[in-house]
Amino acid sequence: VTERELVQLIAREVAAALQLSPPGPRTPPTSRNQESNTIPIGVSVRHVHLCQEDMEKLFGDGYELHIRNELYQPGTYAAQETLTLVTPKRVLQNVRILLPLRKETQVELAYSDAVYLGLNPPIVLSGHSLKGSPGVVMVGPKGAVDLQEGVIIAARHIHAHPTDAARWKVQNGDAVDVAIDGPRSMILKRVIMRVSENSRLEMHLDTDEANAACVSCGVTARFVGLTDGTRSV
Ligand SMILES: [Zn+2]
Repeated sequence: VTERELVQLIAREVAAALQLSPPGPRTPPTSRNQESNTIPIGVSVRHVHLCQEDMEKLFGDGYELHIRNELYQPGTYAAQETLTLVTPKRVLQNVRILLPLRKETQVELAYSDAVYLGLNPPIVLSGHSLKGSPGVVMVGPKGAVDLQEGVIIAARHIHAHPTDAARWKVQNGDAVDVAIDGPRSMILKRVIMRVSENSRLEMHLDTDEANAACVSCGVTARFVGLTDGTRSV
C-alpha cells in the first residue's frame, strides 16, 4: 500500500464514521431545499483581484500565482500570494489575492480597512465600474503598482442560482432584506441579488458586517423579502 492509498483509505474510514460523503469534486450548484429561506453566510476578508499586467509587475514576468484553497463559489480561489497596500497614511500587509485574474485590478476593503488607510472608497458591487474610486500603491516581491483607481467597498450581495431566485420571486439586481438571528440579531436591508447558473446560494458580507452581527462563515441567515416590498428600478 502506498502512502497516498493509505491516506485515501483512512479518509474513507473517517468519512464513513462521520457519515460524510468521501472527498472529491464539489457538488454542482443546485438548490436542495425547495422551501428554504436559509442562506449560508460567506465572510469576505479584504482582498485584491489582479489583471495579468499588474500581477506580472508585482511578481515578475510570466509568474503564475499558486492556489491556496478553493472558495465556495465555483471556479474561484484564494491564492497563496499576498500583497502589501500602502497609502500616505499607513501600510496594510498580507492582503490576499483572489483568482482567477480579471480584466481590471480591484481592491476590496471593509470600511474599517478604508478608515485605517485613510481612503474613502465607494460602496459598489464587485465587478462594476471603478470610475472615481480611489487608488492605492500595491507592493509585491518584484515590484510595485501605483493603482490610480480601483479601491472599493463591496456592496453586500447574495449569490444565488436561478432556482433560488424563482423560489423567492426575485430577480438579478433586486435589493432584498435578510435577517440574521442570534445575540446581535439584525435585519440587513438592500442586499443585492446576484443570480447566475454558476452560483451557489451564499450571502457575501465583509468583515465589518459579519463582526457587527457576531457571525462567521458557515452561519446562516434568513431571506425576508424585497427591501421596502418593492422591486428596485
Ligand atoms: Zn460575492
